[in-house]
Amino acid sequence: MELIRLPYALDALSPVISAETLSFHYGKHLQAYVNNLNAALPGSGFEDSRLEDIVIRSEGGIRNNAGQVLNHNLYFTQFRSPVPDNAPEGGIAELIRQEFGSFEYFRKEFETAGVSLFGSGWVWLSLQDDGHLIITKEPNAGNPVQRSLRPLLTFDVWEHAYYLDYQNRRPAHLAALWEIIDWEVVESRLG
Ligand code: MN
Repeated sequence: MELIRLPYALDALSPVISAETLSFHYGKHLQAYVNNLNAALPGSGFEDSRLEDIVIRSEGGIRNNAGQVLNHNLYFTQFRSPVPDNAPEGGIAELIRQEFGSFEYFRKEFETAGVSLFGSGWVWLSLQDDGHLIITKEPNAGNPVQRSLRPLLTFDVWEHAYYLDYQNRRPAHLAALWEIIDWEVVESRLG
């Protein structure tokens, strides 16, 4: 597996996510997960597998590192520079309205899921087979593909994602992330 390229500059997400946080989170944490996965793959039987298939089928250290690579790939590619009052449009906006009543209500539910996730993990918005949206919390390296969901949007609530900028204020960090969501990318993940 290769380290994904960021589709923006290191300072493009500031002040929501600083260049310093991004340089550590992407350049150190994600790089380490990629390196660990690549070190574990030889002889595992997953050498030629797609990342999603490794996450679904493997166990132990391979699964944890593959999960963190997949999670961060989805996380880092869903951002763009801050836009005040940023909100979804088009098909994804309509799906959110149908499922949650309003974008504001969805946003609150998603943030609450992130704030209430104990320890390290990820909050996800995913598409179910029946076309409905669902918010899930996954501990550690979990990804919704492990329960046959299609991941659309995610917030990383590991402390390494926000501690340099927000210290212990996870709720403030999650509330700010909406400004940098690239909803066109999220919509494209509907397939
Ligand atoms: Mn992370």
